[in-house]
Amino acid sequence: MTQQTAGIHHITSFAGNPQANVDFYSGVLGLRLVKKTINFDAPEVYHLYFGNEVGSPGTAMTFFPTEGARRGRIGGGQVGYTTFAVPVGAFSFWEERLTKFGLAFHRTQRFGETYLQFKDPDGLQLEIVEREGGVPSGWSFGGVPADKAIKGFGGAILYSIAPEQTQRTLQEVLGLEKVGQEGGLVRYRARGDIGNVIDINAAPIGWGAGGAGTVHHIAWRAQNDEDHAKWRERVVDHGFHATGIIDRQYFHAMYFREQGGILFEIATDNPGFVTDEPFEALGEKLQLPPWLEDNREFVESNLMPIEVRVLEEDEQ
Ligand code: ZN
Repeated sequence: MTQQTAGIHHITSFAGNPQANVDFYSGVLGLRLVKKTINFDAPEVYHLYFGNEVGSPGTAMTFFPTEGARRGRIGGGQVGYTTFAVPVGAFSFWEERLTKFGLAFHRTQRFGETYLQFKDPDGLQLEIVEREGGVPSGWSFGGVPADKAIKGFGGAILYSIAPEQTQRTLQEVLGLEKVGQEGGLVRYRARGDIGNVIDINAAPIGWGAGGAGTVHHIAWRAQNDEDHAKWRERVVDHGFHATGIIDRQYFHAMYFREQGGILFEIATDNPGFVTDEPFEALGEKLQLPPWLEDNREFVESNLMPIEVRVLEEDEQ
């Protein structure tokens, strides 16, 4: 049978101030900070992972926040919108919540669904949609009870500079199925029940520029290491330059840039985030890979302290 990804594993973006990033994704959106580590390729920058109670594949929104970072420009070669799925019936809760925090948002319709679109403090484009699929979150924080909480990714809107080629990659490499076309977007579906609905522009979009408020890459799920090795072969067989398989501590990764300019990663579901600290303490302590542990003091001295905190608006 043709290999098919279950859908999005994680999405990684650039951000500015780290505390503002934590306040927004944990404080406002109610996600759990499941891992506080550093960018393995740039240890002076945090790598923060937000998700459901364990950061399951399909729920992990991750950031490289850098105080004072220059803003990017959203455009082709990027994920244009990151979509979060909430339980059916939770829409009005989220409208009230965004209003309470003074965040501008608007409702939009596509493919028969209503979306609530808004931006994070760095301008990253986000949206919320009600979906039946996906396991309910087991996390409640601040003013977000578990039964209204974000379950994970609903999907994403890709902005491609060469959408025909990107669509071919979605179908022929990742194994997604085309399910619709409407208003300049084409819709694809992956076989999983979360992070599984991918929309893409039908006409090319000009290049964006990386920086705070833009997505760096989107990662797709591999079941395990054996499946991951097959994915790499498959990607190479389709003519892409793929990186080797890289140990990211919480999953194994490999990367390739598709022809539409978007950096794709394929990441394993295992081992996940409950590997170097217990479930109860996820995200509390700065976690370093073994090769940086000897330099902990130096690494920590270069990072601004951050905390997960209930925001004022939720204390009234
Ligand atoms: Zn990644």
